[in-house]
Amino acid sequence: MIRQHFIRFMTGRYGMDQLNIFLMATYLVLYLVFLFTRLWVLDWLVLVILFVAVFRMLSRDLDRRRSENTRFLQLVRPMVRNLHTFRTRMHDREHRYFKCPNCGQQMRVPRGKGRITVHCRTCGATFEEKS
Ligand SMILES: [Zn+2]
Repeated sequence: MIRQHFIRFMTGRYGMDQLNIFLMATYLVLYLVFLFTRLWVLDWLVLVILFVAVFRMLSRDLDRRRSENTRFLQLVRPMVRNLHTFRTRMHDREHRYFKCPNCGQQMRVPRGKGRITVHCRTCGATFEEKS
């Protein structure tokens, strides 16, 4: 019964997306920080964040919400990718990472082989690099 009510209530409404999950996560983190610090600014901030998340969830303006989410993903994707490459590099002690001087393509060579000639697969440039 309650379930049916909920489904009817949510029909035509936007619901969850990545931006809302991010907002909820931010809300939880900030709320925890607030519990420890008791900073009144955070008290207001978490309220605003929660309000925005709930507003987006219940919104009937699906196009606008979708484009917000798309913009959010465009903003976040390069950061996630950078974080991922950074982590891979931190764990990879066997390679040296650098960018192709011609096209900027990310490359890696095995460490400890002295100066070697590298061939870029993306732009076809050949150059010397220490390994
Ligand atoms: Zn290149």
